[in-house]
Amino acid sequence: MADYLVRATSEDGGIRALAAVTTEMAEEARRRHDTSPTATAALGRTMTATALLGATLKDDQSITVRIIGDGPIGGIIADGDSTGRVRAYVKEPHADLPNNAQGKLDVGGVVGRDGYIHVTRDLGFGQPYTGSAPLVSGEIAEDVTNYLYVSEQVPSATALGVLVSREGTVQASGGYLLQLLPQADDDVKAELERNLGLLGAVSSAVDAGLTPEDILGRVLQGVPYHILETRPLRFECTCSQERVIGLVASLGADEVRSMLNEDQGAELRCHFCNKVYQVSADELQQVLERLEHPPA
Ligand SMILES: [Zn+2]
Repeated sequence: MADYLVRATSEDGGIRALAAVTTEMAEEARRRHDTSPTATAALGRTMTATALLGATLKDDQSITVRIIGDGPIGGIIADGDSTGRVRAYVKEPHADLPNNAQGKLDVGGVVGRDGYIHVTRDLGFGQPYTGSAPLVSGEIAEDVTNYLYVSEQVPSATALGVLVSREGTVQASGGYLLQLLPQADDDVKAELERNLGLLGAVSSAVDAGLTPEDILGRVLQGVPYHILETRPLRFECTCSQERVIGLVASLGADEVRSMLNEDQGAELRCHFCNKVYQVSADELQQVLERLEHPPA
């Protein structure tokens, strides 16, 4: 099943609901970054959260989620746009920990419980807006729920799960996000709580073959709703040779000069996708000339 997301609303308008299957994008991120099992889970959960939080983005809008805790992973950065593109990396991809007391991957431990989640929305006009909240557990889903409450005052339920196989690959990944607006009535809230309990772990649901529509069907059982949108999701980076050269230019003339002196050209690695770019001595020379003699 290819990755995608569905967005729905209850008939009374009191519930916004999103569900996504992200197995392929989480596996692509694992493969590119060679992450440890625990880092794979942290990275996959963050990518799913980014897709869910970015589900209402329009053309030319983007979202960046940064989860910076005090754990050995050193931080997770993900961004996405309105086309369903998501890319992400962790600072220390090989950081790992033994399983926690429940026998599960210790995502909270590897991320750290002391730190912040920052969510930046660039709406394509004006300054990008960043909202932040302290981490609750480092398990990502609770941190997103708390962020939504603190920053947007919307009570939500978030579930994010990545099932890592014995071989260390991503076997299943997905999540859902429910937001309760003020007009949601109390009976519906009780119904939702019961449904969430029955669904169990979202990674197991995806592993069992449930689609995003199936997941919404389970969590919204008994609540009339309709689907507003279906959006394909994929891991894709926006880096290019041109952007890398722009990055080199942003380092300034002194830095470019020292790169030229040290050796013949430079090698740069994109943090987000791990692709390596070669910038030749000729290209460095051209950058330097533009910096020293900017066009009038
Ligand atoms: Zn890249």
